[in-house]
Amino acid sequence: MRIGVISDIHANLSALDAVLAHAPALDVIWCLGDIVGYGPQPEEVIQRLQTLRHAAVAGNHDWAVLGRLSIADFNPDAAAAVRWTAARLSASARGYLQALPQRRIEDAFTLVHGSPRNPLWEYLLSVPGATASFGHFTTPWCLVGHTHIPSLFIQRDKGRVEAAYAPPDFHLPLDPSQRCILNPGSVGQPRDGDPRAAYLIIDTDRAVATWHRVPYDIGATQELMNRYRLPKRLITRLAEGR
Ligand code: ZN
Repeated sequence: MRIGVISDIHANLSALDAVLAHAPALDVIWCLGDIVGYGPQPEEVIQRLQTLRHAAVAGNHDWAVLGRLSIADFNPDAAAAVRWTAARLSASARGYLQALPQRRIEDAFTLVHGSPRNPLWEYLLSVPGATASFGHFTTPWCLVGHTHIPSLFIQRDKGRVEAAYAPPDFHLPLDPSQRCILNPGSVGQPRDGDPRAAYLIIDTDRAVATWHRVPYDIGATQELMNRYRLPKRLITRLAEGR
């Protein structure tokens, strides 16, 4: 089975479509949340996902748009985008977001947005946080998003955890005795200095995970954001990948 793992689309349809075109012959897509927020096409992104065979979990932006999380903890630009998105979504799109669980188990993988310890909010950026996380899922592997950084954490002997950035085309053999936490990076707002959309393919027949980057029409997304008067910083950062 070929699984496309995507996260943090953030209402960037141009980036999502570039990923889908770049990753043909997928059997299923797993989406790790933050489907909306920041970007200009929340409704269209949800509609696109609904045309695909996929399983998704909720992110903090998805919940904020529904009013299930306070935007008091968001920075002003993110909060403005949440308010803009909330005013724009159809009842059907809201219903789709409402139904997303915080965690799901698919085959040998646990899917969450932030971390298995705190699915909506925790950022897994460091070895201590990742080390604690390994006690909060029971499958061999866990998939997370939220940081917008393609990365992985491997649990070695005696629980020692190693962290690594996952560069484009990086391959990780999947051995069930080697527990890992994998982050595909962000489709719609990468933050590792590379503005290209990021995603991960898991090939269960070959037992390998491969990180990918794909260019997309950043200008098209920025033009829509300008038209809708979304915060300037959210527009410029797309070209910087930060
Ligand atoms: Zn995000």
